[in-house]
Amino acid sequence: MEPKESISNNLLQGTFASRIERRHSSLPSVIVIGGGISGIAAARDELDFVLLPATSYSCYHLFRLHGVCNENPLAPLIRCLGLTLYRTSGDNSVLYDHDLESYKLFDMDGHQVPQQMVIEVGDTFKRILKETEKVRDEHRDDLSVLQAISIVLDRNPYLRQEGLAHEVLQWYICRMEAWFAADADMISLKSWDQEHVLSGGHGLMVQGYYPVIKALAKDIDIRLNHRVTKIINGCNKVMATVEDGRNFVADAAIVTVPLGVLKSNLIEFEPSLPEWKAAAISDLGVGNENKIALRFDNVFWPNVELLGIVAPTSYGCGYFLNLHKATGHPVLVYMAAGRFAYDLEKLSDESASKFVMLQLKKMFPDATEPVQYLVSRWGTDPNSLGCYSYDLVGKPEDLYERLRAPLGNLFFGGEAVSMDHQGSVHGAYSAGVMAAENCQRHLLERLGSLEKVQLVSFRDEILEDAVPLQISRI
Ligand SMILES: Cc1cc2nc3c(=O)[nH]c(=O)nc-3n(C[C@H](O)[C@H](O)[C@H](O)COP(=O)(O)OP(=O)(O)OC[C@H]3O[C@@H](n4cnc5c(N)ncnc54)[C@H](O)[C@@H]3O)c2cc1C
Repeated sequence: MEPKESISNNLLQGTFASRIERRHSSLPSVIVIGGGISGIAAARDELDFVLLPATSYSCYHLFRLHGVCNENPLAPLIRCLGLTLYRTSGDNSVLYDHDLESYKLFDMDGHQVPQQMVIEVGDTFKRILKETEKVRDEHRDDLSVLQAISIVLDRNPYLRQEGLAHEVLQWYICRMEAWFAADADMISLKSWDQEHVLSGGHGLMVQGYYPVIKALAKDIDIRLNHRVTKIINGCNKVMATVEDGRNFVADAAIVTVPLGVLKSNLIEFEPSLPEWKAAAISDLGVGNENKIALRFDNVFWPNVELLGIVAPTSYGCGYFLNLHKATGHPVLVYMAAGRFAYDLEKLSDESASKFVMLQLKKMFPDATEPVQYLVSRWGTDPNSLGCYSYDLVGKPEDLYERLRAPLGNLFFGGEAVSMDHQGSVHGAYSAGVMAAENCQRHLLERLGSLEKVQLVSFRDEILEDAVPLQISRI
């Protein structure tokens, strides 16, 4: 066995033979690190790919398609698989009200908040956000959304809300925080509304995203439980070392691990990442959002999509998504974002479920105990260390360009490098496709003979079978 140092020296000089068994010996080999939607999308193209995810598909739990339209890069696949979507909101919805077509809010004592008050405070919140645009124009330096809201309220006392209405306002802030998976004092005023939202509104993927992942993963060489600890980026080869010390060598690699994993330095890069790349990784925020899914043997709640709890602070507010309406399963999903999501992770699964049941029992004193519960821990899971990226206050202009810029034979995918749709499944998918295309181009230029490889991808095949997206309301 060669000493470790000599392996990396050989690799950096480009003399090390690939150790990945080639399915097509004439094709360049690529390792994709990370098996979420982005990694799987990257691995679909017709080069010789091996995927090294630490665990199985992490976006299996997800359920909303943000942008039910043909421009959505996942639309062809969803159509082709005949998956059904359930509309949760139309085209005119803004980021924080995308599930708010049918809902009931309750106060901490379990009394329902009058619907008229929820609508009126919602309108006030829109006005407050509109006023924050003036604050943005006045300040050269970025501020947080929370700072801007407080400036607006100081200037316009008539927009302030008291008592229950104040709690409803806090609930709208809680909803906004859920979109970014971060607290309002962390979210950039300059960037929060700059996201390009696809048209078509939002739809629940009734069967979840699993069928999408399954179809994309077909025939890809996937090695589960291969957590990469080191990546050596050589002149002609890349070597990935996994936890048990095994090495995988290929012509190039595409890194699609979550931003939280990159931030934590759990993967050592050799040579070290250049300062501009490391700074881009640390300057982008990573949020946290957790779900506590409760399955009951009967339905004791009203037939609305969302059940919310208002409180004096956005931290104390919360909400449940009712999956029964769209899927027929008696399931409620409690959502927690930002610091609250981290705090929930400090509880055992049982205590977290008890906490959520207390909230539910305030609204419905006759609520039965769940027959099953599932608690996510995206903030502390070593394969995610956060949920998705968001723009921190003072984000540098060229951050995303630096984040997605390749380094020799190393390419970067994952939701955080998406062109326009960070924090979404379709954004992560496009980022994977883009990284794979750039990697292909680079390898074909480097290795010559463009004709050798036909750049026909699964996506092109399925585009030919286009049928309309199936969306309904039940
Ligand atoms: C609670 C929650 C709800 C969401 N809801 C929605 C929604 O409704 N709609 C929507 O569009 N988006 C939603 N998102 C966002 C969406 O999940 C992400 O943007 C998307 O799944 C990211 O995909 P990815 O491939 O970039 O990353 P991931 O899916 O996180 O995949 C990263 C992969 O890297 C692997 N990995 C980690 N470390 C290593 C390592 N050291 N070596 C090898 N592999 C490693 C992981 O195991 C995983 O396989 C939600 C996210 C969360 C957390």
